[in-house]
Amino acid sequence: MKELRKFDKVVNLAKTKGFIFPSSEIYGGLNSIYDYGPLGTELKNNLKKSWFDFMLARRDVVGLDSAILMHPEIWKASGHLDGFSDPLVDCKKCKGRFRADNLLEKKGIKPTFGKDKSPDMGDMKCPECGGELTEVRQFNLMFKTFMGPLEESANQIYMRPETAQGIYVNFLNVMGSMRMKMPFGIAQIGKAFRNEITPGNFTFRMREFEQMEMQYFVHPDKTKEVFDKWQELRMEWYKDLGINPENLKFREHESDELAHYAKRALDIEYNFGFSKNETFKELEGIHHRGDWDLSQHQKYSKQKLSVKDEEGKEYIPNIIETSGGVDRATLAFLMDAYTEIEGGRTTTTESNKAAEVVLKLDKRLAPIKIAVLPLSKKPDLADTSNKVYDMLVGKYRIAYDETGSIGKRYRRQDEIGTPYCVTIDFDSLEDKQVTVRDRDTMEQERIAIDEVENYFEKKFK
Ligand SMILES: [Zn+2]
Repeated sequence: MKELRKFDKVVNLAKTKGFIFPSSEIYGGLNSIYDYGPLGTELKNNLKKSWFDFMLARRDVVGLDSAILMHPEIWKASGHLDGFSDPLVDCKKCKGRFRADNLLEKKGIKPTFGKDKSPDMGDMKCPECGGELTEVRQFNLMFKTFMGPLEESANQIYMRPETAQGIYVNFLNVMGSMRMKMPFGIAQIGKAFRNEITPGNFTFRMREFEQMEMQYFVHPDKTKEVFDKWQELRMEWYKDLGINPENLKFREHESDELAHYAKRALDIEYNFGFSKNETFKELEGIHHRGDWDLSQHQKYSKQKLSVKDEEGKEYIPNIIETSGGVDRATLAFLMDAYTEIEGGRTTTTESNKAAEVVLKLDKRLAPIKIAVLPLSKKPDLADTSNKVYDMLVGKYRIAYDETGSIGKRYRRQDEIGTPYCVTIDFDSLEDKQVTVRDRDTMEQERIAIDEVENYFEKKFK
């Protein structure tokens, strides 16, 4: 039997344990759209909270939650209406549709782009049937919809393809209302939509996804120090939350990869290991966007978006952006936490045969923090178990599980990354103590029931 890749195992665990489901599954699914299950929702919420806390811990960064639907002129100003497209070719014979640049890359040819962003295809044939390909056409990636009752072009609007524009158009509002002084940043998490032609690799590239972006507004002379600082800070965030540093790296973009307005771009990459050729892939980008964004919005909105320096000289703020994917980060943390222990590590007979899975998520990210496990379903234990449960449930996400052997129940919690299990046994009724088991060390401690709250306060500090 073919050995499953770690990636496949994580995809399987994500579905069977309630982290991530294919969307609309009972209707056959919807291509490259996914739903987060009960545990995935907790994990993603913990991750987003951690990001916001990290970004807003700096006193020069504030938060924002702008709308998905925006004035259509914004996408003219940003360049998305004209330029946010992928080059497509169709096969004349089998009607297959492909991204032109991907076809070239798969053949080991680095695409060279002409003025209209269309790559030179040479004598490339259809990879499926060898048929002749059409000319390259540009396909805009924005989802369109209509506002109001009339479906006519005057009412056409777009689902935002990125959250950044919502930040730029609120620059004046935030600066004015919050009395922000330059330089400062605005951080936002939200959904974005891209009608990708070749989505894939599970939640890595989806058509509906969530971004966590921060736009930092700064004087053009100060961009380098700001870029360097955020490059370090953003890498630190991933490491601090438990990703193995060996699976992370920076990748500087070549000058021919940069958007025309961009001064510099650098990715934080994670070793997803999708295939032999697809190991390290982008998690987050750090971009020096120059004054392009605010200049464009000043031009199109006819509102003044410049500020004054100390000498009273006006300038358009430059932007350093940190742009990460919530779904990609969630996937990276799941993959990095996924650990298999060959032959198992528990001693109960039914569980020591197969490889054991432990999801070594950081405590802050773990969907369930503590599992309360009465040793048996006997009513004698219920009172004490309920008491422990009630004590903790307002403060932490708690699981209560009384079915199956204790070994099996430990394994269930290990697989979903629960850091601690509290077991109530018959001795607990006498000595008023419970056993706390640690997910990673499997060490067990007897704790007085009266001390349980204090104990976990320290553990989750
Ligand atoms: Zn074909």
